[in-house]
Amino acid sequence: MNSESRITLNSIPSGGKCVIIRISGHGGLRHRLMEMGFVKGETVTVVKNSPLQDPVEYIVMDSHVSLRRSEADKIEVLPFSEHSSDHPQTDYNGTIEEEAVTDPELSARIQEKSHTFTVALVGNPNCGKTSFFNHATGLHERVGNYAGVTVDVKFGTFYYKGYTIRLADLPGTYSVNEYSPEELCVREFLTKNDYDLILNIVDSSNLERNLFLTTQLIDLNVPMVMALNMYDELQAKGDTFDYKSLGKMLGLPIIPTTASKGKGIPEVLQALIDVFEDHKNLTRHIHINYGTDLEDAIAPIKTKIAENKDIINIYPARYIAINTLEGNKHTLEDIETLPNGKEIIAEAKTRRDALERAYNEKIDAQLSNARYGFIRGALKETYQPGSNGHKWKAYVVDNILTNKWLGIPILLFFLWLMFETTFILGAYPQEWLDMFVSWLGRVVGNAMPDGIFRDLIVDGIIGGVGAVISFLPNIIILFLFISLMEDTGYMARAAFMVDRIFHKFGLHGRSFIPYVMGFGCAVPAIMATRTLENKKDRLVTILTIPFMSCSARLPVYLILVSAFFTKHQGLVLMSIYLFGILIGVLSALVLNKTAFRSVSEEFVMELPPYRVPTARNVFMHMWDKSAQYLKKMGTVILAASIIIWALEYFPRNTKQEQQFAQQIEQVKADKSLTQAQQTAAVDSLTMLSGAYHSGNCYIGKFGHAIEPVVRPCGFDWHIAVSLCTGLAAKEVVVSTLGVLYQADPDTDDGASLEEKMKEQRWPEGSVRAGQPIYTPLVAYALMVFVLLSVPCIATLAAIRREAGWKWVFFTLCYTLTLAWVCSALIYQIGGLF
Ligand code: GDP
Ligand code: MG
Repeated sequence: MNSESRITLNSIPSGGKCVIIRISGHGGLRHRLMEMGFVKGETVTVVKNSPLQDPVEYIVMDSHVSLRRSEADKIEVLPFSEHSSDHPQTDYNGTIEEEAVTDPELSARIQEKSHTFTVALVGNPNCGKTSFFNHATGLHERVGNYAGVTVDVKFGTFYYKGYTIRLADLPGTYSVNEYSPEELCVREFLTKNDYDLILNIVDSSNLERNLFLTTQLIDLNVPMVMALNMYDELQAKGDTFDYKSLGKMLGLPIIPTTASKGKGIPEVLQALIDVFEDHKNLTRHIHINYGTDLEDAIAPIKTKIAENKDIINIYPARYIAINTLEGNKHTLEDIETLPNGKEIIAEAKTRRDALERAYNEKIDAQLSNARYGFIRGALKETYQPGSNGHKWKAYVVDNILTNKWLGIPILLFFLWLMFETTFILGAYPQEWLDMFVSWLGRVVGNAMPDGIFRDLIVDGIIGGVGAVISFLPNIIILFLFISLMEDTGYMARAAFMVDRIFHKFGLHGRSFIPYVMGFGCAVPAIMATRTLENKKDRLVTILTIPFMSCSARLPVYLILVSAFFTKHQGLVLMSIYLFGILIGVLSALVLNKTAFRSVSEEFVMELPPYRVPTARNVFMHMWDKSAQYLKKMGTVILAASIIIWALEYFPRNTKQEQQFAQQIEQVKADKSLTQAQQTAAVDSLTMLSGAYHSGNCYIGKFGHAIEPVVRPCGFDWHIAVSLCTGLAAKEVVVSTLGVLYQADPDTDDGASLEEKMKEQRWPEGSVRAGQPIYTPLVAYALMVFVLLSVPCIATLAAIRREAGWKWVFFTLCYTLTLAWVCSALIYQIGGLF
């Protein structure tokens, strides 16, 4: 197609030298090459290039680099004259003598070549491409016809401000799939990379449909400019359209035009030149966010595709992954030839089938819906239909749910409903499980002979794991709500609504979904921040996600709320969650004002279609989470319970304990005492012995040592220990208390943990001797401490993976300080009333 000969770096023989004219290919590849030093105007020396050898070695910017052939093929060059004998010898080990480029003939050709670029005109039928083409070319230079495969691609070349611009007028198409000859032609042209830029012409009187094609072009990751054509019609209708802000969200310049009258065309040409020269950072690659489920399917396919370096030098890996998932015939044919092609296709098929079953909808419809969701979100923020009447398809439901005044109260209502149901409805099965665990403890305890093994099973395992497992129903209910909100499309609306509020805190609305996921578990939530492309936005979100109270903390709240709050339990629970959100958002503000001073980029907030969630899908989401919870029971929590039990159990039979035992024997043997006196004496000795043991065991010593630190928060050593062990997983706070109180001789073995907590009293000798340890105030301070303090190990590991050690360290210090200060304030100030 490019009639002029195009010489690429690939064809320069060993020892040859050349100057880079341009880098073509998709954004990812271009970026990589530029980072290696392959920049327009640079001189490259070929060190070794033999026909069958891959990679090829070059010297550029004084350093040796090797490129694959498929990469070198994307670098257009101008060789130093063929009779290069009169050129200075190349010094392979170091500097290249730059005076070579001072050859006037050569520099003239470089100038000419590097000021020539090809633009592909892409748009729907009748959007005004040909009008644009004729105006742009006709005003200046020649127009010619070249036959394409089945449909015509018309080329025209003209000069503008020192540049030679080749325009390719592609056939009009609604998408770049493969259903019609037009689509195929455009698709082929666009993936051949024989052009430099895309000019997407959009009919502004039909934005929604026209932007669909734009979303597909964005996936191609090629520098792009958008002409907002028929702008006269948009204005005539009285619509308002903040196209500049849309351009910021899409990461490309948008210029209004009226192609039939030639209006706006010079501005478009200028934008094309600016983007071609890449001077002003006018473009930015964005990802269309296809939603969690589709993204989860795209990611593993993409990873497998990315193993094949040659194909991802032709197309962006994400683009191929999306097309493979969609089952695009031409893409599948390409994939089949890859070494791991079969594996990729199988993976895509599994994922596609699962998605189609889950949503009961063809995969291409799902992808289209996601694209329309992106468009709807983008337009809702920027486009306002005028009074002159327009059939802008706004959803009636949307107008209520995202209403300026009603939207946020409705959101709060749904959140309240979620917590209330989690609490009230979950309480029944939770109680049954609780009873079952107590019963099991008694039965097993009676059946087994006394000894260390019985203590391990009853106190360590049943006491520890049992304390946590009964919360499974509540957690299932919480996840049911989160899944329902996600699957109906409501979550995206919520994100949309809070976007504006979030912006005030330097956050992006898109952070909302990771936040809500954080109510489930911080680990997937931290991974979900990958939909945020800006590094700063990601970091701030990652660091504040731990304040979104995860489901592992729920058992702690549930036990404390049900034991120490009799009224408005759902509200108390919700207040904890809201407090977490408040701290999270304020922390984001502080981080933005201090550590991350940079302007955040604008993103589109997708508005996917509302759906009736399928039972299957909701069940699957719920089951995934619950299975994780059960797995955690069997691993982290079981191990932690056993360790804590052992630290509480040992050392045993110390000298003092033996003395207590002897004294008990003596009392029992003492015939001079009445039965009642004997029992009383034995009881008090047992208590003393128990108190001694709990203070002397390893964990007791540790607890007592750190108790002074948390005393200002109203906590005793049991709580101090459980807060430390909670680092393994937050549920362990409860299981630790379960183990500690289970082993406690003061308390009745059959009682539930809740009852045991109510019985706890400050010991003799302390300021509050004899008073209950747990009061509503202490319970609230404890909940806040658990909410704010250091997240669990798994979360810290996720933070390390996504952000690095530095931020793990930061999180540790920051959350601990914050938790301590807030709890102490609550306890101290609350104590005044
Ligand atoms: P193509 O199918 O994309 O090549 O579109 P054409 O250039 O053939 O244009 C289709 C119709 O729209 C023609 O009748 C044009 O005169 C008209 N048209 C093109 N641009 C504009 C514009 O900016 N405003 C208005 N009102 N009409 C336009
Ligand atoms: Mg046309």
